[in-house]
Amino acid sequence: LNPTFANLPVTIFTTMSDLARQHDAINLGQGFPDTQGPQDMVQLAADALLDGRNQYAPLTGLPELRQAVADASKRFQGLMVCADSEVVVTSGATEALAAAFCALIEPGDEVVLIEPLYDTYLPVIRQLGGIPRLVRLEAPDWALPRAALEQAFSDRTKAIVLNTPMNPTGKVFTPDELAFIADLMRRHDSYAICDEVYEHLVFDNAAHVSLMTLPDMRERCLRIGSAGKSFSLTGWKVGYVVAAAPLAGVVAKAHQNLVFATPPNLQRAVAFGLNKDTDYFTELARDMGRKRQILSAGLAEAGFGVLPSQGSYFVMADITPVAGGMDDVAFSRMLSEQARVTTIPASAFYDAQSGEPPRNLIRFAFCKREEILIEAVLRIKAWK
Ligand code: GLN
Repeated sequence: LNPTFANLPVTIFTTMSDLARQHDAINLGQGFPDTQGPQDMVQLAADALLDGRNQYAPLTGLPELRQAVADASKRFQGLMVCADSEVVVTSGATEALAAAFCALIEPGDEVVLIEPLYDTYLPVIRQLGGIPRLVRLEAPDWALPRAALEQAFSDRTKAIVLNTPMNPTGKVFTPDELAFIADLMRRHDSYAICDEVYEHLVFDNAAHVSLMTLPDMRERCLRIGSAGKSFSLTGWKVGYVVAAAPLAGVVAKAHQNLVFATPPNLQRAVAFGLNKDTDYFTELARDMGRKRQILSAGLAEAGFGVLPSQGSYFVMADITPVAGGMDDVAFSRMLSEQARVTTIPASAFYDAQSGEPPRNLIRFAFCKREEILIEAVLRIKAWK
């Protein structure tokens, strides 16, 4: 059997969700909303099934969805995108990432990644023969370590993977940091796979800027989005890649062999969603920002060292003041079992094959109804 996959542990999201079910815990681990998503989109998807939208969709996606992705890229990022040649619809951002890696990576290519990182990047990169070069951000501010990043780039660098707004840290990369990354890419003639699934989930004064909008980056970036996050419909698994036509064409070849096509009824509803008024997206972010505030304040009252979160579904917390010497894995297991609140130990977001991860951080997902967040805090306070 192939050791890249045979030796992988079951994902931490599944492990912790199983634990939550077992203990009837509030699941603030795996990042999924506990609401139903926009009713008009759900109705449209259901109607499309009954209308007979039940055969293969076009390989690169329904024309109406590709156009909606192009229009949203212009509206929110000022990008001019050709719906016919520069958009590929995928089965979630997970498939978009895999297809983008397939499109770029040859054996021996180096890929720069920023830790902590989302867990699906490394196995696929390694399977393709890519060599990860990891650069670590440090809590509590998660600033880009510029000297280390510069050292990670070489003449063998094929690409950098950039996730902003970032899971699990809640960091939103600043224009200055993006300019620094763009400069390295220019100097080393490399690409960027831009995981922007939380593009609409930014809080306070933070703004999401696509790396693709910086000078010379239009042809070098593959920008990835997810309807799951933008419409609170994570089960739908509809994603997309935006890239210059020569790149998008190769991503489409990878997609052709991974999945071929994505369910047409869901694509139709997502096209409708992406065309919603800007108010919808503003309210989504405002609502999520409020949830973050409720959970962060409650956790601080309960004694955690709560880190700032400027975007995504997540906030990180330092457990040192409350964990009595336990590490993140033991503490989050105990919190599930005894307080009946499930979280994710942050060490899961570090490469098992590189150095020791921090052991004092856990990740909370706040994409839940406010009463659930309040109940979670009450449980934690009562348990203490
Ligand atoms: N992206 C989600 C998270 O970080 C999990 C997705 C999954 O379970 N595959 O919580």
